[in-house]
Amino acid sequence: MNERDGVKVYPTVVWSAGAGCHGNCGQKLYVKDGKLIKVEGDESHPWNQGRACPRVLALKQYVYHPDRIVYPLKRVGKRGEGKFERITWDEAFDTCEARLKEIKDRFGPEAVIFCQGTGRDIGGPISFLAYNFGSPNWCQLGLSGQSCYTPRLAGMKITMGDFAVADCSQFLEKRYDDPEWEVPKVIIVWGNNPTTTDPDGFFGHWIVDCMKRGSEIISVDPRYTWLTTRAKYHLRLRPGTGGALALGMLNIIMNEGLYDKEFVEKWTYGFDELKERVQEYTPSRVAEITEVPEGLILEASRYYAKSRPAAIHWGLAIDMEPEGTSVAQAITHLWCITGNLDVPGGNVIARPSHGVTTYPYTTEELLGLYGEDLVKKLTDKRIGTKEYPLVKNFRGWAQPDMAIEQIDTGKPYPIKAAWIQTANVLGGQAARAKLHYDALKKLDFVVVVDLFHNPTTMALADIVLPAATFAEKDSFRSWWAPLGVMHKVIQVGECKSDWEINFEMAKRFNPEGVKWNSVVDLINDRLSVANRTFKEMVEKGCWEMPPDGPFKPYRRHERGLLRADGKLGFNTETGKVELWSKALETWGLDPLPRYVEPPQSPVSTPDLYEKYPLIMITGARSSLFFHSEHRMIPWLREKEMDPFVEIHPETAKKYGIYDGEWIYIKNDMGRVKRKAKITLTVKPNHIQTLHGWWMPEMKGSEPDLFGMWDYQINLLIPGPQCSSSGFGGGQYKTTLVTLEKIKEGGK
Ligand code: SF4
Repeated sequence: MNERDGVKVYPTVVWSAGAGCHGNCGQKLYVKDGKLIKVEGDESHPWNQGRACPRVLALKQYVYHPDRIVYPLKRVGKRGEGKFERITWDEAFDTCEARLKEIKDRFGPEAVIFCQGTGRDIGGPISFLAYNFGSPNWCQLGLSGQSCYTPRLAGMKITMGDFAVADCSQFLEKRYDDPEWEVPKVIIVWGNNPTTTDPDGFFGHWIVDCMKRGSEIISVDPRYTWLTTRAKYHLRLRPGTGGALALGMLNIIMNEGLYDKEFVEKWTYGFDELKERVQEYTPSRVAEITEVPEGLILEASRYYAKSRPAAIHWGLAIDMEPEGTSVAQAITHLWCITGNLDVPGGNVIARPSHGVTTYPYTTEELLGLYGEDLVKKLTDKRIGTKEYPLVKNFRGWAQPDMAIEQIDTGKPYPIKAAWIQTANVLGGQAARAKLHYDALKKLDFVVVVDLFHNPTTMALADIVLPAATFAEKDSFRSWWAPLGVMHKVIQVGECKSDWEINFEMAKRFNPEGVKWNSVVDLINDRLSVANRTFKEMVEKGCWEMPPDGPFKPYRRHERGLLRADGKLGFNTETGKVELWSKALETWGLDPLPRYVEPPQSPVSTPDLYEKYPLIMITGARSSLFFHSEHRMIPWLREKEMDPFVEIHPETAKKYGIYDGEWIYIKNDMGRVKRKAKITLTVKPNHIQTLHGWWMPEMKGSEPDLFGMWDYQINLLIPGPQCSSSGFGGGQYKTTLVTLEKIKEGGK
C-alpha cells in the first residue's frame, strides 16, 4: 500500500461482487478517509497488465449506490409486497439458524437447496455452508442443463484427466517475453467473444495480444463481431451445430493424416474407434448440418492442423449445445490429436494455482475438503445423482432442471427452503422463468444474499443479507493463475462478505466441523499447501505466479508431473489421452463424441419452425453488464439504456419493423419486449438479444417485479433440457421465436 496526500492506494485482485465477473485482474483501489475514490488497473499485475473494464472502473458508483442494501432485512408484508424492515445481524443469523434447523429436523438436510450464480467468489463459501449444513443440493438453480463451463470441464476431464486453456503465456511471470513461450500461429475462437469479456479465468484481450504478435484467427460464431471481421476464416454456423463441426474437422484431419502421429501413437487411447466414429461426419454432411460452406470447413481444418503451435479458446455456446459435454470432448480431441496439448502456444493444462482449492470444481476436490464419508453420503441424495452419471461422479452440483421440478412437485422428496446467493434466479439465469417463480413461491423459507433488490429478492425473500464487494472483503482465488487474495480496504454499512456470512452460519450448523476461528484462519489453512499466509500474500501485492511443477506448463506428461503416482502420462485410467473415454464407458455413457440436433430447429421441428421461423441467440456478453447485474449503475446504463434485439434488415422489412421500434419477441412460452436494432451482424433467420434484463427504475413489488414479466428473455426459454451426461444442453441459443409489432407503438 502506498500513500500520498492522505490517499492510500491498495493493490488487490478482483473476484465479484462489484465487477460481477469471474475476475482475477489486478486493480489499484484509491481510498481517502475510508472511502473508495477511484479504481485503476494495476500495471504490475501479470494477468491484465493494468487494463480494466467499464464495470470495475465504475466500482465507486456501485459501492455507494443509494439503492444498495447495507444492513440485514426481514420481510414484514406478504411475499412480493416489497415490505422489509431492518434487523440486526444477530437476529438475521438466529432466524436463519432456527428456520433451517427446523426444516432439517422435519424433512432432512437435503430439503434445503443452496443456489448460486455463475463462477463468482461463491463456489467456495456456498459449498462450505451446504456441506456443513449436510445438504447435497448445491446448485446453479435455473441454469438449464448446467450450461455454463461445467460441460466443457467435464469434456476435458473425461478425456485428459485435467482441464486446459489456450496458452497466452498467462502461467509465465514474464508473459509474452518469456523465452519458453511461443505465439500460437492460429487460434480458433469458438463460441466466445473475448473482446467483451473475461470468463473462466481467461482475460479476453490476450487473444488480441496474440493477434498483435502474429496469431491468425479462425472464428466459429454465427454473428459478425469485431473479432470475426478480423478472422482468417469465419465459420458462421447454425446455432447448436458446433458438435457436427468439431466432428467434421476431426474427420478431415484424421482422414488426411494431418494429426501428430508421434503424439497419437505414444499418448492417446482409442484413436481407431474415434476415427471410425467421425466417418459419419463427412465434410459435405457437416456443411449441410452447420450451413457452413464445405470448402470453408476444409480450408479452416487444414489450416488449423498444419499450423504449429495452434490453440483453441472457447465459450459458453459449447455448453449450450444439446450434448454440450460431448461437443467439448470432440473439441478437446482436436487440440490433442494435433499435438497441441501442454505445449507452448497450444492448449496448456490448467490447475488451480499452487494446488490451492478455493472453488471445488470436482468431486476429487470435495473429497479433499470434506472427506469420503460425507461426500459419499451426500452424493447419494443429490438431485440428479441417480439419473446422471456426471452429477454423481464429476461435479457436486444438483441438476438444475430436475431441481426446479422437485421444488414444484415435492417428489421424490420435498424441498422446503432455499439459500440463494450471488444469483438473481428470476431476473437472470432461469430458463422457464415462470415455472421458477411459481415453484419457489411454494417454499417455506427463502434467504437471499445480494447487494441490491431485484426480482428474486422482491418475489421470494424472507430474509435479505447484504453482501460485500471485493473491495470490502478478505478472500482468496486460485482459478487458474496467479494465486491471488483480496483484502478488505473499506467498509460499507453493515455488509459482510459471502465467506463471513457462510462461515458464521456453518459454525452454527456444525460447531465441531468448523475448526477455524475466522475466515482468514480458514484462508491460511487453504493457503498452507502453497506455504503462504494471507498476510504474506497481501504484503507481496496480492498475487503470486505458480512455481515450477504440476501447476505450471509445459509437457508435464513427459515429466511425470500430472499423475498422483508420479508416472509419465495423463491423469486418466489408461495414463493416456482417452479419445475413447473409459470413464464414460464405465458410467454407461457413449465413450465417443456424437452430434445431436437441437430439440427445436428447422431440422428437428420443421412445423414449429414454420410458426416461429427465427433462431434466437441469447447469452452474448456485454462489457457494461454482467449477466443480470449493473442496470442501476449510471455510468454503465447510460451507455445502453434499453434491451435491444439484433435483427437483419431483410427480416425487419418482412415484419415491417423499423430501427429503434419497441417490439415483442414471441413463442408458445409467451412474449417479451425488446427495442429493434437493425443490423447485418446476424443472419436473416437469426436474432440476438442480451439476457438478464430487468429495470431497477421500475416498481419492485408485485406484480411489476422491476419489469421482469416484460423484459426477462428467459421467460421464452423452454425446458427441461439437458445432455445425457447431465451437463449441457440449455436451449439459450437455439429457441425458435417470431417477432410482433407492439400495437400501441410505444414501451
Ligand atoms: S471483466 Fe476483466 S477487467 Fe473487468 S473486473 Fe472482470 S476480470 Fe477485471
